[in-house]
Amino acid sequence: MSPTSSVSHDPATLSPVPLDLIIQAPKALLHDHLDGGLRPQTVLELAEEVGYADLPAQDAESLGRWFSEAAYSGSLERYLETFKHTVGVTQTVSALSRVARECAEDLAADGVVYAEIRYAPELHIEKGLNERQIIEAVLDGFAQGVAAVEAGGRTLRVGVLLTAMRTAANARQIAELAVEYRNKGVVGFDIAGAEAGFPPTRHLDAFEYLRRENAHFTIHAGEAFGLPSIWEAIQWCGADRLGHGVRIMDDITVDASGNATLGGLAAYVRDRRIPLELCPSSNVQTGASDSIATHPIGLLRKLGFRVTVNTDNRLMSGTSMSHEMELLSEAFGWGLKDLEWFTINAMKSAFISFDERLEIINHQIKPGYAEVRAELSQRINKENA
Ligand SMILES: [Zn+2]
Repeated sequence: MSPTSSVSHDPATLSPVPLDLIIQAPKALLHDHLDGGLRPQTVLELAEEVGYADLPAQDAESLGRWFSEAAYSGSLERYLETFKHTVGVTQTVSALSRVARECAEDLAADGVVYAEIRYAPELHIEKGLNERQIIEAVLDGFAQGVAAVEAGGRTLRVGVLLTAMRTAANARQIAELAVEYRNKGVVGFDIAGAEAGFPPTRHLDAFEYLRRENAHFTIHAGEAFGLPSIWEAIQWCGADRLGHGVRIMDDITVDASGNATLGGLAAYVRDRRIPLELCPSSNVQTGASDSIATHPIGLLRKLGFRVTVNTDNRLMSGTSMSHEMELLSEAFGWGLKDLEWFTINAMKSAFISFDERLEIINHQIKPGYAEVRAELSQRINKENA
């Protein structure tokens, strides 16, 4: 038993929740990068196929370790190098389809029932593909992956978010593609990349266009950079959700007795139920939080923010949805009730239609958690018998 273990015998609140039950529980994921989630073995095989010679390791295990060490190194240069490799080996239709297919399979094996996966088409044009070929290759890969998942008796719904790099100047074009493909598997838009010096309002025309088109978008904001970035993303650009948004903490003061006071922006984010796409392990890697145990998710959950749990880059963080939830369950003493709350928060905040969201909440998430609680209850009874 870890020091945070609760003595609860209630299957809804007992913690830490055993990992196999977390995997079994249905999960929803809103913030996951396609180029941050490749299998190490696939990176090796794709590199071989396309004659990519720059990989830092030659077997799957050391390569996987290299990715995670580079991401935890605290050096931005090394962190960015990880994406140079994953993007470097995904410049063909077959490579893009493959990584999308495997992404769907990996998520389903981890018990994810709904996922929004994002990537920037502009990063995959090095070998002559155009944006539409890239978008279609990825959609095709996801369709194959979902079909394989269903053939295996599981269900998974995947929606794609098209990302524009905030350092580039083509956000409007990518936004138009997100609208063009909106009924074909793309469910939204995002901007990502270096935050400092590249405020979201730089791409205001793209966001204004999306709003006129009644389209959904999230913005990476409040990760590396603080409140001005979050404020612009919401009040100027009109973001539906915040990618990370962890720095909203800068607008919350906690006194010696633990009472929190919210500033104007924090209150607005909470009161308008603006979803925060928090990615605990990734936030620790980038220095947005010192540790999982001190991650703002604890306080934000207590204060009633619309908090969601996400993976960001599964390969670089050596993580999965279940692993993130396991870390949180251990660090904060959270039980199945809390994990279900995060999952329903995510599902409520998804970019698919309201009736589809309700369908997943009522027919997959709630019954799925009821099943897992029953299983945990049986184990508790057996232990106490
Ligand atoms: Zn991200």
